[in-house]
Amino acid sequence: RVQQFDTVIIGAGAAGLMCAAHAGATGGRVLIVDHAKAPGEKIRISGGGRCNFTNLHVKPQRFISANPHFAKSALSRYTQHDFIALVDQYGIAYHEKTLGQLFCDASARLIVDMLCDEAAASGAELRLQTRIGSIEHADGGFTLAVEENGAAYNVSCRHLVVACGGKSIPKMGATGFGYRIAEQFGLAVTETRPGLVPLTFGEDVLASFKPLAGVATPVEVAGGGARFAEAMLFTHRGLSGPAILQISSYWREGEPITVTLLPEQDALTALRERRQIDGRKSMVTVLADLLPKRLVAYLAEQLGITGNIGDMSDKKLSALVQALNGWTLHPIGTEGYRTAEVTLGGVDTGEIDSRTMQAKKVLGLYFIGEVVDVTGWLGGYNFQWAWSSGWAAGTAIANM
Ligand code: FAD
Repeated sequence: RVQQFDTVIIGAGAAGLMCAAHAGATGGRVLIVDHAKAPGEKIRISGGGRCNFTNLHVKPQRFISANPHFAKSALSRYTQHDFIALVDQYGIAYHEKTLGQLFCDASARLIVDMLCDEAAASGAELRLQTRIGSIEHADGGFTLAVEENGAAYNVSCRHLVVACGGKSIPKMGATGFGYRIAEQFGLAVTETRPGLVPLTFGEDVLASFKPLAGVATPVEVAGGGARFAEAMLFTHRGLSGPAILQISSYWREGEPITVTLLPEQDALTALRERRQIDGRKSMVTVLADLLPKRLVAYLAEQLGITGNIGDMSDKKLSALVQALNGWTLHPIGTEGYRTAEVTLGGVDTGEIDSRTMQAKKVLGLYFIGEVVDVTGWLGGYNFQWAWSSGWAAGTAIANM
């Protein structure tokens, strides 16, 4: 017995649900399958449970891909404002936290419910705890071996949409299945690695960071040709916080990162002024007005900062500023997929039509969301890519 659908979407996450909301618009039968117990689990836990669902300042330059032009089409046809209009239509309250990042006021569940309602309204059927075994391709269609609650059956479809995300957080059901489907069909997959992930350090550095665990401070971090001004957080495993997560997507093994600890001011001028007013204060006390106390204590020990600011020559002050604003660190790795928010790399964009997200070599096969080699910055960009690419595939299918 073969159950027939026009479209089968593998993965009821951000991209899959968005695609389902549009693929059935002209009456086609749509099935979404997911091996998880609930749809949209990553949406539910995202943004500390409030879901940073998009960003007011989306632009293609804020996405990483071997082809930086690829994401432009989908991002310009289904924009952050389109998604905000949908959120408004559902009366979901939200606020801008910082840097254009939009979060729900209440719960990320509202976004999951909204997407499930949209998918159901367009007639899509959702089957959870359902696994896909083999996928066969013949006569312009696909036949999938499905296992649902111990029952095995086959499903056939004309359009097969791969929306099963990347490898990040295996504990939440990430499998890398989408890359295997691409490989089965002979499509190239670029190297995948963890992105938006804390950086780790050798034992010596970690031991010296120990007293700093929990300290956060606004910095600028540079590395891998990128630079971000956001907060950095010391943890007992290394460095985290938005600035570090952002730079981790550009950092490559063996490279250093450079931290500017006093980014928001002309530090040398500020310290010279303090020398005039507070010449009798110790350098450590003055720095503690600019940086967290525990960090100052650490720096004082590492850099040998002693004495009063009044006794510091211009040359010494300048050397101190250089040390604080050119702090070079050598990460040895990342925390890996266990904690990475996203997977960099993925299905090679050269294999996919950027308007429809359809594989150029295998008509009827689509890839959307994180499985594609498009990765956004931290701050709502990854969900926007899921919405835009899901919409592009969904509307293309509905109009076929
Ligand atoms: P997913 O949303 O991961 O959906 C994939 C779906 O496929 C899942 O439901 C999964 O169960 C299913 N699946 C996987 N393998 C199989 C299989 N073999 N068979 C059947 N089903 C399968 N991005 C933002 O923009 N803003 C944020 O605030 C944000 N916060 C995040 C917080 C955390 C902790 C994490 C891990 C990520 C966060 N992200 C955030 C990134 C964002 O969640 C992803 O980029 C986005 O969910 C990708 O959408 P997707 O639909 O491609 O994949």
